[in-house]
Amino acid sequence: MVLLDCGLMFPEPDMPGVDLVLPDFTWLRENAARIEACILTHGHEDHVGALSFLLRELSFPLYGSELTLGLARSRIEEAGLLDRTQLIAVDDGERRRIGPFDVEFLPVTHSVPHGFATAFHTPQGVILHSGDWKLDLTPVDGRVTDLARIGGIADEEGVRLLLSDSTNAEEAGHSRSERTVGEVLRDLFAGARGQRVIAACFASHIHRIQQIADAALEHGRVVATLGLSMRRNVRLARDMGLLRIPEDRLFDIADLGDIAPERVCVISTGSQGEPMSALALMAHGENRWIKVGPGDTVILSSHPIPGNENSVGKVIDGLHRVGADVVHSGLAAVHVSGHAMQEELKTLLSIADPEWFVPVHGEHRHLVHHGRLAVAMGLDEDHILVCDDGDQLELSDGGLRKLEPVPAGYLYVDGVVGDVGHGVLRDRRVLAEEGVVVVVVGVDVRSGEVISGPEIITRGWVHAPEAEDLLEEARARVVAGLAEADDTDPETLKRHARRALGAFVHERTRRRPMIVPVVMEA
Ligand SMILES: [Zn+2]
Ligand SMILES: [Zn+2]
Repeated sequence: MVLLDCGLMFPEPDMPGVDLVLPDFTWLRENAARIEACILTHGHEDHVGALSFLLRELSFPLYGSELTLGLARSRIEEAGLLDRTQLIAVDDGERRRIGPFDVEFLPVTHSVPHGFATAFHTPQGVILHSGDWKLDLTPVDGRVTDLARIGGIADEEGVRLLLSDSTNAEEAGHSRSERTVGEVLRDLFAGARGQRVIAACFASHIHRIQQIADAALEHGRVVATLGLSMRRNVRLARDMGLLRIPEDRLFDIADLGDIAPERVCVISTGSQGEPMSALALMAHGENRWIKVGPGDTVILSSHPIPGNENSVGKVIDGLHRVGADVVHSGLAAVHVSGHAMQEELKTLLSIADPEWFVPVHGEHRHLVHHGRLAVAMGLDEDHILVCDDGDQLELSDGGLRKLEPVPAGYLYVDGVVGDVGHGVLRDRRVLAEEGVVVVVVGVDVRSGEVISGPEIITRGWVHAPEAEDLLEEARARVVAGLAEADDTDPETLKRHARRALGAFVHERTRRRPMIVPVVMEA
């Protein structure tokens, strides 16, 4: 077995208190002895973020580009797990044997440099996985998606199975070149003369950082990094020669000294509105290093990923409130997508000309749309398989077919508690939406007679001081419920108390708060 990426998800609004969402590792644990390696297509969190969790339990080497390994490394190191893996860097176009696998690494352009598509040369033909990719004929580093080699493979061996990124399968047309952002940034810097400029983007988007820095340097500014991951990634990319900012023009935010604000460009994290990020703190006037106000231009060189629109909106609002000028992707073309749109997806389908096709990476509807594009390109409908998490596919002489699925749910991680299960999450949702009602009652163990209470305590159901009559009725219903119990052991009594109170609450208020019965024996 070889793993292709090991990423995580960020929680959705219906996952209260959850910091991260990991894939369920059950099946990998059961097959630990068979895992040869994990290949990392690129350095984004949704592709490398779960390694620092999986490596706690399992041990295997990692293959990827030098930059991808560098980005993945810091988290693994923080978790103290570097000794459980081996980082093996591979070059563009390299082909190597990993266990029984013959793997070729093909360059693709994306919103983090040095991503790979991977071609697995197998006895059943070539399986080509696109990774996250787009077509950009003028990328900032000149490293284009290697369509020529893909065409070569298609000609020589044929592509038996293609798996391709579906993120933008609903978007018509072609994604714009990253370079177009550079032109817009230069105009914005020209217009922001006399102002401090603060630009936020993903800390892994090295090409965007380069273009912000280029525009700043051109206008006589110095560049200051703000945010831990921004500082770390800028250092990493400069060490690898992937980012060009002269040493004497680059500062950490803490070392700016008395350089005039209008000579400074701050490159910051927080473009997704993350609550504790540098930018969100600025919007609330709470950033340690920067007080934003009139005289500042803030550029959000990003687009909110689905689910983050609200928090990004709040940050933009906060920045306006303190008087800053804010430029975001809704106002100017300060961002382009890193994922292929329909015309690009069709180009790859046409060049790879696969026998079988599995759309990957996206919500279910994106996979369906990507499948439709393939049909429009002439692929047989029954040669396209839209899959769910956990689906197991087998490629054999007879073609591609689904086998029994393997376990592949979500694992919710709460920073303090550790792994929390579905049960905990369900409880949190009930508490958040319906509140809690606790009933405490003292009972004589022999007779089953109520000797104290019932006392009812509630949070989030009704405001108790104004609901005395309702609570009085509730107490009476609990007493009546207990009287119906045919046994006097605490579990039976609790069950009766819960049932009686739950029914009453729902009957009278149409709510279903969490009911917690406490039975004290005397
Ligand atoms: Zn990506
Ligand atoms: Zn991705």
